[in-house]
Amino acid sequence: MVKYARCNAMLSLALDENGQPCRYMSQADTEDAIVADMSAHLKGVHELDPAELVNNIRGITKTTRK
Ligand SMILES: [Zn+2]
Repeated sequence: MVKYARCNAMLSLALDENGQPCRYMSQADTEDAIVADMSAHLKGVHELDPAELVNNIRGITKTTRK
């Protein structure tokens, strides 16, 4: 089982550093790791405050079987 979250599931109009629609996908074994990874992405690429988006990140985190 792997958890994943797509940046554009939360920020549908977000652009990456090249001005393209952001396709970043975070993948990890635990939801906490997803939150940590996506928080770093949101802060680094989109210059957003991840503290306000933790619930959103958890909301779009999905679990898949590999
Ligand atoms: Zn992004």
